[in-house]
Parts: sequence; C-alpha cells; structure tokens
Amino acid sequence: MHGLMQDRPLMISSLIEHAATFHPDTEIVSRLPEGPMHRTTWRGVRDRAKQVANAMQALGIQQGDRVGTLAWNSHRHLALYYGVSGFGAVLHTVNPRLFPEQIDYIVNHAEDQVLFFDITFAPLVEQLAPQLKTVRAFIAMTDRAHMPAIQVPNLLCYEELLDAQSPQYDWPAFDERSASSLCYTSGTTGNPKGVLYSHRSTVLHSLMELAPDTFGISSAETLMLIVPMFHANAWGAPYAAAMVGARLVLPGPHLDGASVYALMRDERVTFSQGVPTVWMMLFQYLDQNPQLDPRSLGVKRIGIGGAAVSQAVLERFEKGFGAEVVQGWGMTETSPIGVISKLLPKHAGLPEDELLQIKLKQGRGVWGVDLKIVGPDGQAQPWDGVASGHLHVRGPWIASGYFRNEGGAVLDEEGFFPTGDVATINPDGYLQLVDRAKDVIKSGGEWISSIDVENAAASHPGVAQAAVIGVAHPKWQERPLLLVIRKPGQEVGKQDVLDHLAQRIAKWWLPDEVLFVDSLPHTATGKVLKVKLREQYKNHPLPTA
Ligand code: ADP
Repeated sequence: MHGLMQDRPLMISSLIEHAATFHPDTEIVSRLPEGPMHRTTWRGVRDRAKQVANAMQALGIQQGDRVGTLAWNSHRHLALYYGVSGFGAVLHTVNPRLFPEQIDYIVNHAEDQVLFFDITFAPLVEQLAPQLKTVRAFIAMTDRAHMPAIQVPNLLCYEELLDAQSPQYDWPAFDERSASSLCYTSGTTGNPKGVLYSHRSTVLHSLMELAPDTFGISSAETLMLIVPMFHANAWGAPYAAAMVGARLVLPGPHLDGASVYALMRDERVTFSQGVPTVWMMLFQYLDQNPQLDPRSLGVKRIGIGGAAVSQAVLERFEKGFGAEVVQGWGMTETSPIGVISKLLPKHAGLPEDELLQIKLKQGRGVWGVDLKIVGPDGQAQPWDGVASGHLHVRGPWIASGYFRNEGGAVLDEEGFFPTGDVATINPDGYLQLVDRAKDVIKSGGEWISSIDVENAAASHPGVAQAAVIGVAHPKWQERPLLLVIRKPGQEVGKQDVLDHLAQRIAKWWLPDEVLFVDSLPHTATGKVLKVKLREQYKNHPLPTA
C-alpha cells in the first residue's frame, strides 16, 4: 500500500524559490574578479537565475545538455547554479586549476555546449578554444565595459545576455533523478572522471548539511564560501544556504590571507568553509600582522575538509579566533559530505588532550551515509578504533558510477562505493582516516599513517607545513621521508623535528630522513601532490639504507 502523500519531485529550483520567497532581502555579497564588491539578494539571484533559464532556451540548450563554467565564487556563478540546473540542463563546473590539457579533455568528454568563464580565465579560454569541439558559445561573466579582447568564436557578454531575457520563467518539474550538475575528480592518476549529481541527491545532501549535528547552517548565518564552487559544488553550501536563506559571502578569486581576513571582518562572517591550505595563507598573514586580533571578528565556526585537520590548525582557530572547528570527510563522489566531526554529550568535561584526540578524527557518519571498512580478505572490519580497512560508503548522494561509464562498474557487491581511503572506526562511530590507500607507507609489512606523521610534525612551533612519503628501502620495503617547510624566521633543524616526533609517534614511524624545502607541489584542489613527491624523491638515498 502506498502512502497518500503528494509525490512532489525534489527539485533544485525549489531551493532558490524558497530563498526568494522567505528570505528575499537577505544579501549575497560577492567580491568580483574585476575588483569591487557587489551586493544582491536571494530575490535578485532568483530573478537572474530565471533570466539564465530563458537564456538557455535562447542559446538552443536542451534539457540534459552540459553547460560549462570556469569561474570563481560569485553571484553570477550562483545564478548559473540555479538557472542551468533549474532549466533542466547540467551545470558542469570546471576546475580552472587543472592543467590545460585536462580542461581540454573534460570539456570535450562532457560535451559542453557553451562555456561561461570569469575574465581572469580569458587567456586560458583563448588558448583552449580551438580544441573545445562541442562549445558553440563562450560567455564572459562580466559587463560590456570589462569584456576581454580575445579571439574566440561567438564571444558573448554575460550581463548583456541576461539583460535581454525576461525574469519571468516557470521552473519545470521533472524526474528528480535527472542530472543537475557534473564535477570531475582531479584524477592524480589517469584521466579525470565525471561525477554526475542529481536534483534528488543535491536536495537530500543540502537537508543533511543544515542539521545542528552537522554544519548547522541557519538563516542567522553569514556563510563565506572559501571552498570553490568548482570543487564538489562548494561542498553543497550554495544549495544548503538557499534552503534556509543564509547570507552568503563569495570571495571571487581573492583568496589571499589579507582579502579573506578583510571579508571576515567587513562582512561579519559567522561561518566559513575551506581546505587547510587556504587557512595556512590566512595564518601566515596574521603572523605578519600581529597587531590584528582575529577574536574580534566574531567568527563562530570554521568548516574544514579535503585534507586532515592538524592540531596546529585546530588550536589556531579555537584559541586564536575563538571559533569551533567542524571537520568533514568526503570526496567529489560523495557530494561531498560523508562524515562530520562533532562532539557527543558524553564528551562534556573531558580533559583537553582527550577532547583534542576526538576532534582530530574526521567525524561520525551523517544520516544517509552507510560506512564500512573492509579488510584485505574482503571482510568488514570491527568498529574498535584499531582495525583499519578500505573505506566503502553507500547512500543517496554517493556516486553509483562515473559519467559515460568511465572506469566501468565501481560498486562492491553490497552496493557500496570504494573510496580509496583507509580508515578505522571506533565504537562511537568516529571515523579516522589512516591514509589514502596509495599514500600509505608500507614498512616491513606494517602501515605507517602519513596523516599521523604529518600532524605530529606540523604541531612543532617552527613548522609551517609537512608532508611525508614512502621511499624504497632495501630492508623495510619503504621508509618515511619527511619534507618540511619552516615558518619564516625559524631555525628548526632535522634533530629538533625528530625529537619532537619521538614524543608523539611510534619509534618505528620516525622518518629516516627529514628535508627542508621552500614549497610543496599541490593538486588542483589544494592537496599536497604526493605522486609528484614520490617521483621526485624516489632515488633519494636514505641514511638508513
Ligand atoms: P580530489 O581527489 O580531486 O582532490 P576530492 O575532494 O574528491 O578531490 O578528494 C577526496 C579525498 O580527500 C578523500 O578521498 C580523502 O583522501 C581526502 N580527504 C577529504 N577530507 C578529508 C579529511 N577531513 N581528512 C583527511 N583526508 C580527507
């Protein structure tokens, strides 16, 4: 027997309609690539989104067609989020930090029909245009006065294109399982693969993100999205924010410490989300400007994901900003939230060092995501906080496969998606990431967690950043080599680092070599590029070899 509830499809357009109806005057603040600040409202974005939808029709876009963007976080990108998906086309957010050959590959693979781009990327677009076989129009996301002087076929101006359209448009209702957006994983090995989200998965993921035990976003929030809208839909925040009418601050390309600090201060940001590398830039700026007091900002929460949160980062936000850190684990394939770290009532009153150990874990499963850790024999491992295994996840916002079946069937026999991460889960359901399977260091048949070694190294007051990799060793198969970036003006040496680590990690985990470097290579999503480091140091002679 079916229930007698209305069978209304879960549509992304319903989010922007809600925001425009119930929070019409709540601001959306953007810092534009052109420089100045721009202010609109949820109603303003909804009207613009409807003009986008009408423009889709004018451009000959059909439902299901892919529409590419190469763009920073802004109200213009937000209008595309709603206008393109609301119309029934698929918003393909391209990561501009990928190598040009990768962008070329994914735009062709996705068969994008038109490409919207911020003027920052005009030279890149001009270089790529001849290879982009399916793109019929290139739309610069600016006004007439700032149009780039580039040679590409059918170059259009965003503001003119939209101004020519009516803000009247009735959002169509269609199958909630229809594709809404597309995001390629950066693919540190092999070609990038497309993750295709649906209206249903997006709406359900947004609902989850609002719960007080997850990110707890409400209409009282001013949410600054440091995480780019081209990285797993900015962790779903542009949708979740509309669902409750939160005020949004969108920083455009201005992600340096000074700009982020100024936005936090001037726009009274209460919650901000980003990967650890952007926060390092903010800390560096504060180190150079000790007269600034980040406690005066009034930031309440910082969401961090994409890479492990170190003790140093956690304490800096807690003690320096008076802000709570909410860590999340996820990936492009999981929309991206899989687990979120929050304390439980029973943790109240625990000593600080015990609390710290809980807060540094990636987090507990949220409603909608089933977790499983799988041992080498294919069997599920116990949740005892000790046994580690390959992390598999299942749920309504977890990928079932890749766009155009790249990589073939990916799910295990129980329908779980293998994440490529190795983790433990404790009896309270807290997941702790040991490593990415391909980054784990295999020493004498045992595993060394690069995350733990890096966190221990980064807690040294003279260390700005640390990365550890496995290097071939004649006796132990692999041994750890640690690369360290010193904080400016710090004299820290190899023995200092080793002494510091010796108090924090098992003796056999201690790196065989510590090298000081000026910088580390990063992926397009801001993670240390371990493949490159392994390649670079593969023949480095270890003193213990
Ligand atoms: P890409 O691989 O393209 O950079 P993803 O955002 O999909 O993009 O990366 C997901 C991976 O990032 C996860 O599989 C995991 O290895 C890592 N990751 C995400 N969140 C965390 C976290 N909180 N702690 C440690 N690693 C994380």
